[in-house]
Amino acid sequence: MRLKDKVALITGASSGIGRHTALLFAAEGASVVATDIDDEAGKQTVSDIEAEDGRAIYVHADVAQEADCRQMVEQAESTFGKLNVIFNNAGIMHPQDDNAETTSLDIWELTMAINLKGVFLGCKYGIPALRRAGGGSIINTASFVALMGAATPQIAYTASKGGVLAMTRELAIVHARENIRVNALCPGPLHTELLMKFLDTEAKKQRRLVHIPVGRFGEAKEMAEAALFLASDASSYVTGTDFRVDGGITSAYVTPES
Ligand code: NAD
Repeated sequence: MRLKDKVALITGASSGIGRHTALLFAAEGASVVATDIDDEAGKQTVSDIEAEDGRAIYVHADVAQEADCRQMVEQAESTFGKLNVIFNNAGIMHPQDDNAETTSLDIWELTMAINLKGVFLGCKYGIPALRRAGGGSIINTASFVALMGAATPQIAYTASKGGVLAMTRELAIVHARENIRVNALCPGPLHTELLMKFLDTEAKKQRRLVHIPVGRFGEAKEMAEAALFLASDASSYVTGTDFRVDGGITSAYVTPES
């Protein structure tokens, strides 16, 4: 049990990476605070954990809302007595997010509010709780696009994930002596609803696939395994990283000189 006696809060726990991580963390002994805006699916995540004799609660929290982020942390501490792990994972990739000329300001602001401000708020209210617990681990979901441009444009998304990575590095440095580790999980392109909706034609899928050395999209459960490592004491000397779980896509772009 790699997360025995730990309490972990996961945003975006109703679907994809967040849901798989909630199930895995609970199976590894954590008490899980599953949060999302999709209440029905979030409650399903909790029922599925309970069906396996795990411990979990569901808390409705829109990560773009400050009051919701404060309250999700309060609920974690009031229910389970402490908070050891925060997985700031909720994010969107809007279908109308395109290049700089065609993307509307509304789409830009919505994407930033959820993907970037949401991570900031999770840290703002989560860090004091981790400190009260004597330290802990924060995992912020960025993306491979934080490290390189994507051929299919998604300007707001890419910028938001670059912000998540930069913020993660600074948080890691500032809080290192408090026994708080902060890492960015950088998934490659995944076989999840979020990306498949965005790459909505076979041609778009193939354009992305051709760049992935392993020759396939990743699976949400493969991201959950990486999150487990970063959450657990097995990664006790790992902080400030852009932890890439990307089928080799970022290395495929590295030039010999870089
Ligand atoms: P997903 O759509 O399956 O899950 C995202 C979850 O976030 C959903 O349950 C959704 O309801 C929730 N959510 C959306 N807006 C929210 C808000 N305002 N407040 C709280 N929850 C909200 O997608 P996923 O693929 O599991 O994505 C999880 C994270 O991984 C995201 O940050 C995404 O950007 C990132 N990511 C995904 C891929 C990919 O290829 N799928 C690649 C790199 C990074």
